[in-house]
Amino acid sequence: MRAYSSFKEIVRLVKKADSIGLVPTMGSLHDGHLSIIEKALTKNEVVIVSIYVNPKQFNDSQDLKKYPRNLNDDLEKLKIFNKIIVYAPNDRDVYDEGEEVKKYNLGEITKIMEGRLRPGHFDGVATVVEKLLSMFNPNDAYFGEKDFQQLLLIKELVRKIKLNVNIIGCETIRESDGLAMSSRNKFLNKSERQSASKIIKLLERAKKLYNTSNLKDLKSAILKQAYSIDNLTLEYFEIIDISKYLKNKKEIRAFIACKIGNTRLIDNIKI
Ligand code: AMP
Repeated sequence: MRAYSSFKEIVRLVKKADSIGLVPTMGSLHDGHLSIIEKALTKNEVVIVSIYVNPKQFNDSQDLKKYPRNLNDDLEKLKIFNKIIVYAPNDRDVYDEGEEVKKYNLGEITKIMEGRLRPGHFDGVATVVEKLLSMFNPNDAYFGEKDFQQLLLIKELVRKIKLNVNIIGCETIRESDGLAMSSRNKFLNKSERQSASKIIKLLERAKKLYNTSNLKDLKSAILKQAYSIDNLTLEYFEIIDISKYLKNKKEIRAFIACKIGNTRLIDNIKI
């Protein structure tokens, strides 16, 4: 499996394809990423997988520095797929010298949760996703529900700048104990990994309580339970009505962000 750093070369290769799927990733691939690629391949003749750790979406330079990068391992994992093309650019292939992120103003969705705690993060995400969509002009682009707020943001981006692409959400793939797969999970030591498996328990408890408790009691029960988990520092826990952000989609979801030791993890479920 080879990786291309020139998007023009890829555009030449996919020119005749009936339909193109795009799966943007930051690499360090796991089964969550692979399941998205599989889904994209069921609908598209060719799927472009981008592997790029986008510096513009990191508001913490230490986090960017230590983000795992394993291109050779990634290419090895992707060997199982036919009909995919890997785009693995360098920073200078994506950004001009000194280029700033665009300021998008994508509304309320960029101001809560991740938007509130990671200033500039979503403008960085939107900047790189707009670039990828414009480079490859895919029919479909695929994003995981694991980063549900990001999925909502991309839908809003595409609506606002009127890009002709379907944004398709993909279910969260989990380890056998329920921990959402994430490239960051490899930073967890044994006891932290044990604690991380309790994140899904918090979300599932919230789901149970949602029908029997008011929101205030629900939140205080979850906060109390979170406090009792070793290594865990809660950053936020929210119950959000998605219909506020996606018209015609009645859905309530519980969202959590926390640090387990030094590793920041997020998760969410439909409740
Ligand atoms: P990342 O490499 O973490 O930026 O993720 C690339 C894409 O994979 C994003 O659309 C993520 O939402 C998605 N993704 C990450 N983890 C998972 C998972 N456990 N299950 C499904 N999709 C995921």
